[in-house]
Order: sequence, then C-alpha cells, then structure tokens
Amino acid sequence: MKVQLITLGCSKNRVDSEHLLRQMKGNGLTVIPETAPLEGADVDAIVINTCGFIQDAKEESIDAIFTAVELKRRQLVKYVYVLGCLSERYRDELIAEIPEVDAFFGVSDTAKLLEALGARYNKRFAQERVLTTPSHYAYLKISEGCDRKCAYCAIPGIRGAYRSVPMELLLKEAQGLARKGVKELIVVAQDTTYYGLDIYKKRMLAPLLNTLAAVEGIEWVRLLYSYPADFPEDVLEEIATNEKICKYLDIPLQHSSSKVLSAMKRNIDDKQTKDLVKKIRKAVPGVALRTTLMVGHPFEGAAEFKELLSFVKSARFERLGAFTYSEEEGTYGARFYKDTISVRVKQERFNELMDLQSEVSLNFNKSRLGNIEKVLIDFYEDGYAHGRSQYEAPEVDGEILIECKPSDVKAGEFVLAKITEADCYDLKAELVKQ
Ligand code: SF4
Repeated sequence: MKVQLITLGCSKNRVDSEHLLRQMKGNGLTVIPETAPLEGADVDAIVINTCGFIQDAKEESIDAIFTAVELKRRQLVKYVYVLGCLSERYRDELIAEIPEVDAFFGVSDTAKLLEALGARYNKRFAQERVLTTPSHYAYLKISEGCDRKCAYCAIPGIRGAYRSVPMELLLKEAQGLARKGVKELIVVAQDTTYYGLDIYKKRMLAPLLNTLAAVEGIEWVRLLYSYPADFPEDVLEEIATNEKICKYLDIPLQHSSSKVLSAMKRNIDDKQTKDLVKKIRKAVPGVALRTTLMVGHPFEGAAEFKELLSFVKSARFERLGAFTYSEEEGTYGARFYKDTISVRVKQERFNELMDLQSEVSLNFNKSRLGNIEKVLIDFYEDGYAHGRSQYEAPEVDGEILIECKPSDVKAGEFVLAKITEADCYDLKAELVKQ
C-alpha cells in the first residue's frame, strides 16, 4: 500500500504520527511525504491525524478531511482514514456527516488503523519513530492524557487520564533518537510537571530530565508544557545546574487574575502566579520564559483584562503566545458559563496583548546585542543560515539568521554566533570563528 499521512495539531500528535509511520514502514508500506502532490502518485490511502482542541483547529481538520474526500471522488486515492482528537471526540457525528471517509479511528486505535491498511501492529517498533522534524531535533512525548480539570479544556475528555510512559522506555526512545543524529530533545505532554505521579506515586520529571540529558549525543533538552500549580522545585534546580538542559521553560499560565484563574479551575491565584514567576527567575538566572495566555474568558471583564496587561508588562515573558476563549462542548465552562464576550472584543484584547508583548520581546532581543551565543543550525536558505539558541524553541519562537556561505554551516551542527541585529522576534548574527 502507498500511504500519505497528514498530521495536524500539536507536537504530541506529531509524535503519535511518527510512531505510526514507523509501524507503516516496518510493515513494508510505502509512505508518501506529507507535502507531496497526489496527482499521478498512485496513492492508495490518505490518513489524517486530526486535532480537536478548539474551534480553529477543528475547522482546519475538517477542511483537510474534505480535501482528502475530494481527492477520493477524483479517484486520486482509494481510501480516506481519519484518526486523532477530532475523530475521538466527534466520531458518531463525523460518520453521519462525512460517509465518504472509509473509517474514523480514536486516539488509541493504531492497531485497528494498521489492519485497515493491511498491516499489523508490531511491538518491536513501539519505541521507534520515523521523524517528521529535521533530523537534529525531536519531540519526546513523556505521557498521554491529563488529570487536571481546567474548565475550558476538552483534552481530558478526549485523551483520558494521565498515563506516564515508563522511564526505561523513554530512555530507550531517546537513545534511539540520539543514534539517528538527534541533538535536541524537546520534552512534551499535556502536563509535563505531573510526570510520574501515576506510576511512581511521586514527581519524576527532574530525574527524567537528568537521565535524558545524560544520553550520549544529546546536547540540549528543552522542557515545554509545564503546569504552574504546585510547580516542582527540583525541576528548577535541574534546569539551573544541568548545562545540557536549555535555560528555557514553557509554562502556560492562561491568565493572572484570581477571578479568572478560579473560574478556569487552574488551582492557582494571582499572587501564587506572580511568586512563581519570581521564583523561577531567581532559581534559573537568565532563563527564557515562554507562556500562553487566554483572552476573552467569560469571567474576564475590562478590569481583569487590565490586570492581565499589567502582569505581562511586569513579568516580561521572553516568549508569549495567546489565543481567544473558545467554548468547547463537554467542558465545565460550556455547561456553567455563558460565552458572552463578542468575537470583536476577544480579537481586540488579543491584538492589544500581542502588541504589548511585541515591545517586551523586542527589548529582550535588544538586550542580547553583542552576545556570543551557541546556535543550532536548522537549515540554510537565500544567503542565510537559520538557527536557534537555547532561548528559541522550534516552530513557535523566532530565529537567529546568520548571513554566510552555504559551505560555512551544516544543518544540525552547533556554531558560535555574535548577535548583531534585533527585531521583535528574530535576530541577526555573524559567525564567530572557533
Ligand atoms: S492541563 Fe488543563 S489545559 Fe492542559 S490539557 Fe490538562 S486540562 Fe487541558
């Protein structure tokens, strides 16, 4: 069978797809690259790994399904299969509304999907992946599901309860990735700080980070998706003292107003949030803090939004992403809160917040002018090497652009570079001869 796998949504979905690709290849299926045009490609099946988190993501997934169904109607593919969060969450509705799709699978139906493709799930490949990222960095998904009860979030209902991946399996996966040339491991989950509480009855993220950093060939370990409430201090200690762990921390805070945080059921209030940011900056001097904030929550009035803006002004996050509240059926919020804030006001608040952040981000970047930083080269294009320091995560943060000859650099290698120019998100730099 010739198969094309399309992956939507977050890095955790991408890891699921990479495991699926390994199973497909292990069964002798021919995998067509995700971006390859299908005309004349004689593809048998398109498989879409969907996202069902919020409205925008759902629409993107549905568009991808209709595109595939259209290719089937034009007989460019024989089968269309759908899996992932959207399929898990709305299977019955999707079966009724899009009968052209041959089958909808849930988030834990890999074996059934492989059967539909005439293949068989093979335990031997369980810790192996076919990377879809550049070969020098990879995401490592350390658990599935979530035990938190955030009032706006549908994920626990889609992905189930928290299940940590045993450390020995993660170590085996990390060693396999390092043997393939991965130098940067990016640790992801719905909630990375909860790691271990289910299977080891204690928090094990710090020991896990230490173990991953010791894997031969791994140069950088980067931590994303940490949860703010009851933040484990040993993780800060590990980040601060382990030179292979990036001085970078992603901690989605969602908001800073106690009234909104309480309605969101985030188990933390404004003072604890501010104290946590101070504690992290004290424990890890020079850390680049990334956060994600939500605007337009039903409990966010003008006063609460003003509070959020002044928090962002004082906390000075090096990296910040935001999104507008989306009422998600099946969540506590959808049942008990009225989504009364208009789309226009939500968008205005989003714009105002991101305008403020662009100033903060520019000042952060300007503060690095003249610094000599270790940069991992991602690719070369149009006279520039595109790379990142430990302060930039791939795909979500800015880049460091180095004007040089193609022969001066190689994707996947580290160079030293002196920062020469700064804008809101990207930096320019020149190579420093070593
Ligand atoms: S921590 Fe909260 S927002 Fe994140 S996946 Fe779990 S329930 Fe959703």
